[in-house]
Amino acid sequence: MGIVGKGAKCNVSGCDNDAVRSLNTGKVEDAGLSVSSDGKKTALCKTHYKEWKKETKGSRDLERARFDRF
Ligand SMILES: [Zn+2]
Repeated sequence: MGIVGKGAKCNVSGCDNDAVRSLNTGKVEDAGLSVSSDGKKTALCKTHYKEWKKETKGSRDLERARFDRF
């Protein structure tokens, strides 16, 4: 489980919750979340993980919609 298994905190700036997931930092930033991690991996708390999932789902839907049209 990497960093999350050791009681890491969420890496989103301003957030101090316990992390539940670790994700590729680039992917998190792509979703519009502001991350204070300088590593390759970013730890996310439950709230921000949900937010991240929502964001990535949103852009996937957008891409699919675009793809369908053309
Ligand atoms: Zn958080």
